[in-house]
Amino acid sequence: MANKPDTQVLIIGGGIGGLVLAAICRKVNIPCKVLERTRNLEPVGAGISLAPNALKVLDQLGLYEEIKRSGQPLKKILIHRNTTKWRELDFSDTERRFGYPVYSIERHHFHHMLYKAAGGEATVELDSKVEDIIDKSEEEYVKVKLADGREFSAEVVVGADGIRSITRRVLARNAGLEATNTIRFTGRVHMSGYTAPMPNLGPEELGVANWLFYDDSILTTWPCIDNRQWFIGVKMADPNSVQEKNRSVWSGTAREMINDVYGEKFHPFGENGMVKDVVNRSERIIASNVYQEISFASMSSGRVALLGDAAHSMTSFFGQGGCQAIEDATELANLLQRHFSVPAAERLSGVDDVLIEYSARRQSRAKDIATFSGNYAKLHTANLPYGMGPLVRKLVYAYMPVWMWMWYLEWLYGYQPVVDAL
Ligand SMILES: Cc1cc2nc3c(=O)[nH]c(=O)nc-3n(C[C@H](O)[C@H](O)[C@H](O)COP(=O)(O)OP(=O)(O)OC[C@H]3O[C@@H](n4cnc5c(N)ncnc54)[C@H](O)[C@@H]3O)c2cc1C
Repeated sequence: MANKPDTQVLIIGGGIGGLVLAAICRKVNIPCKVLERTRNLEPVGAGISLAPNALKVLDQLGLYEEIKRSGQPLKKILIHRNTTKWRELDFSDTERRFGYPVYSIERHHFHHMLYKAAGGEATVELDSKVEDIIDKSEEEYVKVKLADGREFSAEVVVGADGIRSITRRVLARNAGLEATNTIRFTGRVHMSGYTAPMPNLGPEELGVANWLFYDDSILTTWPCIDNRQWFIGVKMADPNSVQEKNRSVWSGTAREMINDVYGEKFHPFGENGMVKDVVNRSERIIASNVYQEISFASMSSGRVALLGDAAHSMTSFFGQGGCQAIEDATELANLLQRHFSVPAAERLSGVDDVLIEYSARRQSRAKDIATFSGNYAKLHTANLPYGMGPLVRKLVYAYMPVWMWMWYLEWLYGYQPVVDAL
C-alpha cells in the first residue's frame, strides 16, 4: 500500500448524508472524495421537507438563502377524515420557537444544491459502484474496491450508501453476522409525486399541507413553491403479490395506478375536489418501499463509519430520515475535524476511537427517532392495538392543542447540531 492515501475521508454514496458530509469537509479543509454508483445525478424522489434540526447546519453552509428562494415554509396543516374537516393545525409558530420553519423543497433541486456545495465533480466521482471494503489493522489505510476494478485508499471510510448499504453488509460480514438482516420491509409502499403549480389555488393556500385520512388509506400533500404540491400516498403491500420480501409492488408507477387507489377520493385542493385533480398535474411520480430498522448495530467498526439510512433506516412518516443523515454528517465531521487538526504524530487516539465516539453520540438519538417514526406511522394509519387506532388518532389530530404539538416537538426540532469549526 502507498504511504499516502488517495484521500483522508472516503464517502461511499452521494445522497443527502454523503454530500452534506463532503460539503462540511470541504469547508473545514479535510480532503475527501465521494464515490457514487449512479452515472448521472438524475431526479430522485419528489419532494423533501427540511426541519429546523437540519436547517441550522444548512444555513451555516450557506444554503439557507437558496432553500428560502426555492422552498416553501409550512404554515398550516388541514386535517380531514374522508370529507369531514377535523381541524386546521397552525404551524406558523415553528420559526419563532425553533429559529426556522419546516421547508418543503423539490428533492432534485435540493440534491443539486448539495452536490455543488460538496464541490461537484471535483469531489464526487460518479459511476463508481463500491463492491468491497478492506479494513485490516496491519494496513496503514482502508481500501475500497469498485465494481469496475478501481481501488481507493483513505484514512477513514464513511458508508452513506442508503438502505441497501454495501458498507453495512461488509461490516456485518466482518462481524460474522452476514445472514442477519436487521432492516425489515414494513409492508407499506409510498407513492409520491411533485406537481406543476396548481392554477386553482391562491395565496391563502400557499404553505398549507393536507393530511387526509380515508377509510382504507391515507394521503398527505406538502405545499411547495408556487402552489406546487408534493403528495405521498401509502398503500399496504398485498402479501400475495409480493414475490419476495422487500420487493416493491409498485415498481413502474404511473399516475393511473395512484388514481386507481385515490383518484375519486376527496382532496380540498383538487379543482373538482378530488385527488386525481392533483395527481394529474404531477410532473414526476415514484414509488418506494418503506423499511425500518429493527436492531441497532454500532454505527462504526474499525476505521469505517455508517451514516444516514445505511445506519438507521426509519419510516418517512415524520420526514426525518434525511434530517437525521444531516445530523449524523455534522456530528461526524466535528469529530473528524478535531482529530485531523492535530498533527498525526501528536494524536493520542486513532480514528477508530473517534468513530466509536461518533457511534455512541448518534445511536440513541437515531434510535429514538426511528422508534418515534415507527409509532407515529401506526398512529397516522390508525393501526394501534385493541382497535384503539381510530379513537386515539382522532383525539391527537382533532383535539391536541397546537402548544402541545410544539412542546412535544422540542426534543426533535430544538436539537440543532452545527459545525464547531465554522
Ligand atoms: C417517500 C419518502 C419521503 C421522504 N420524506 C422525507 C422528508 O420529508 N424529510 C426527510 O428528512 N427525509 C425524508 N425521507 C427519507 C430520506 O429520503 C432518506 O432518509 C435520505 O434520503 C437518506 O439519506 P442517505 O444519504 O442516508 O441515503 P440516500 O439518500 O439513499 O443516498 C445513498 C446514496 O448511495 C448510493 N449508493 C448506494 N450503494 C452504493 C454503492 N455500492 N456504491 C456507491 N454508491 C452507492 C446511492 O446511489 C445513493 O445516491 C423520505 C423517504 C421517502 C421514501
